[in-house]
Amino acid sequence: MLMARQLRSRTRNGVPLRMLILGAPGAGKGTQSSRIRQHFGITAISSGDVLRRNIALGTEAGMLAQRAVSRGELVSDGLIVDLIRNELASLALNNWLLDGFPRTITQAQALDAMLKSAGQSLNAVVNLAVPEDVILQRIVERYVHVPSGRVYNLSYNPPKVSGRDDVTGEPLEHRPDDNPESFRRRLQQYHQVTEPLLDYYKRTGILTAFAGTTSDIIFPQLHAYMDARFD
Ligand code: ADP
Repeated sequence: MLMARQLRSRTRNGVPLRMLILGAPGAGKGTQSSRIRQHFGITAISSGDVLRRNIALGTEAGMLAQRAVSRGELVSDGLIVDLIRNELASLALNNWLLDGFPRTITQAQALDAMLKSAGQSLNAVVNLAVPEDVILQRIVERYVHVPSGRVYNLSYNPPKVSGRDDVTGEPLEHRPDDNPESFRRRLQQYHQVTEPLLDYYKRTGILTAFAGTTSDIIFPQLHAYMDARFD
């Protein structure tokens, strides 16, 4: 059994974890991030959750992002970079991982610059490789709890009570951008502008790929990878 180590969040080399989770939309980035958060007590920031929260709260950034997010298009690099910069600023030297950011080379360069000015650099980049037919089937069954970002799948990890979040009991939502048309656009965009990031990070030598058809197959591999980094 995989053990939860929430209290043990110090890396072996003492350098704070600066980790990215990459993968196509629907590859399970949110699911893997929340498991890593539970098992290792690492703060996980999802750019999609940050955007959905801003949209739900009606902030200025949320209003600017709303149309693109509902259509399955990327929001502008400037907008998401500012939001992520704010999120990271509050984390200081805590270990963190990012899910869904960066999604373009411009965002990756902005992140590098942000880290450099803090005297830090990325030290782990993970790619989730999941076959596309599996992903397409999966998103139809995906439901989220918007305030927390918890993700459910009707086949793999259904909520205990139908349509309700396990922790708060609040209603779950089917993401408006998880319809076939928006999803096709998101996948196309992923191939065009996000996949080139794999080459960008391959050059740094810190990219590791994990393949599998379910999150349960991938997580033990990821857990072992994380375990090697913590005392
Ligand atoms: P998925 O990985 O399933 O596409 P996310 O929750 O990561 O879902 O993202 C949902 C939407 O939020 C995206 O389709 C896009 O509109 C927007 N978004 C999220 N992250 C970024 C980003 N880094 N750059 C631009 N847009 C983003």
